[in-house]
Amino acid sequence: MKKLLIANRGEIALRIMRTAHEMGIRTVAVFSEIDRNAPHVRFADEAVCIGPNPSAQSYLNGERIIGLARELQVDAIHPGYGFLSENAAFARAVEEAGITFIGPTPFSIEIMGSKLAAKAAVKEYDIPMVPGLDEAISNIEEAKAAARQIGFPVLIKASAGGGGKGMRIVEAEAAFEEQMQRAISEATSAFGDGSVFLEKYIASPRHIEIQVLADQFGNAVHLFERECSIQRRHQKVVEEAPSSILTPEIREKMGQDAIKVAKACNYRGAGTVEFLVDGELNYYFLEMNTRLQVEHPVTEMISGVDLVEQQIRIALGEPLSLRQESLAIKGHAIELRVYAEDPHNNFLPSIGTITRYRRPKGPHIRVDDGYDAGMAIPIYYDPMIAKLITWGVNRDAAIQQMLEAIEQYEIEGVATTLPFGRFVLEHEAFTSGQFDTHFVQKYFNPEKLEETNPVSAEIAAQLAVKLYGDFQRVLKAPDVSGSKWKR
Ligand code: ADP
Ligand code: ADP
Ligand code: MG
Repeated sequence: MKKLLIANRGEIALRIMRTAHEMGIRTVAVFSEIDRNAPHVRFADEAVCIGPNPSAQSYLNGERIIGLARELQVDAIHPGYGFLSENAAFARAVEEAGITFIGPTPFSIEIMGSKLAAKAAVKEYDIPMVPGLDEAISNIEEAKAAARQIGFPVLIKASAGGGGKGMRIVEAEAAFEEQMQRAISEATSAFGDGSVFLEKYIASPRHIEIQVLADQFGNAVHLFERECSIQRRHQKVVEEAPSSILTPEIREKMGQDAIKVAKACNYRGAGTVEFLVDGELNYYFLEMNTRLQVEHPVTEMISGVDLVEQQIRIALGEPLSLRQESLAIKGHAIELRVYAEDPHNNFLPSIGTITRYRRPKGPHIRVDDGYDAGMAIPIYYDPMIAKLITWGVNRDAAIQQMLEAIEQYEIEGVATTLPFGRFVLEHEAFTSGQFDTHFVQKYFNPEKLEETNPVSAEIAAQLAVKLYGDFQRVLKAPDVSGSKWKR
């Protein structure tokens, strides 16, 4: 592999290029008009504009990307996450063009891209599933009867859903019909597939997922878990590895089950098997993501494995060099997704230009970012600015390191989730490890953002006193007797 095209933007495009660079592989960036001066474009050996800003005309334009790859004699395409990463037709078209797709086969993507097909595929492997339907349902009366049997609250889920979208909780039968109709129409418009099914709504679960790696020769390992329960809108914001609640026995059992899920779809490459875990440490298979995950760095920090390098080696047809026995968890890692979102305002995207940008620095601080000072946050894409990742010898040390890194991180011009991150990391429920996916609903209130930082409050107070003094001096009538202006 001499030349790799990265069909993505932002932090993940840069992150993939960094590993390619280390492996001596040349990189090609693609970009939309608004991303012309983005860091991923500057970092690449070659960069080509692939179209106007809307994703459909640029980062989702598979045909254009493949055409370009052929023109530039690219050997492989890495899709990153989001965009075309879970598009089986794209993966197939890449292979048909004689280019290596860095990811699983179109077959695996197709199966796991449908939550229902995924459930069907793993059925014979004896993996615990969330109670519910394993078929799409469209008849309201039948669905209602099924919901009654499962027991309220139930979750109506779009089979093709992703990114936290396409889910509706129904607390009681009276609301069922309306919610079901909405779920179907949303699934149709968002995913082009109106299939929905029902799952028991697990009351206070944790989201814990297992990283797997598999090669084309049937070798597979797991790289332990990531705890991703701190979410807003069913989307992760803070992740960590390992989870503070898993015992070594359950970790190993979940790891082996995750490998079985991978085998169920003939998986190859890096993938993630997601589970919900209840208060008694019962776990249930949710879905498999057939790509590099946003939060993969926490796994890299505790395992010492470069997951992108592994993806590339597997795509090159190399057998897996990692052995399960030689993998071990070293220390603890935490990631905060730094979104251009306003935690004071319901996490709505905060559009604007980054006027000041300073990364935190330190031996155990990793910043995966895709922006610089002076850049605007485009409205067209996911508003994630960066991922801030810290490592420590244990969980407390990783938390301390994260708090220091948040303190050092300077982003001005847009609101970010940095203050929210501090709120989470200082919260007793988080530090004690006693939390679930409802952390934000249960404990978060924007008014609490300021209270959480006595140090900043003190600095702000001192600054105010100093500024007041300065103003007093300035406001004192200046001596203008000799001033030309006065004349
Ligand atoms: P991860 O699963 O990697 O932890 P997310 O669930 O937040 O992270 O998804 C990663 C990215 O992919 C996000 O930008 C998200 O919006 C996008 N995404 C995932 N699945 C879909 C989908 N089915 N449709 C649209 N966007 C998706
Ligand atoms: P997506 O494809 O959008 O990532 P998932 O099935 O992985 O969808 O679910 C995303 C999140 O939604 C989970 O992490 C969890 O917080 C919540 N969730 C999903 N299914 C259930 C369920 N049956 N009970 C409770 N919460 C759920
Ligand atoms: Mg998921």
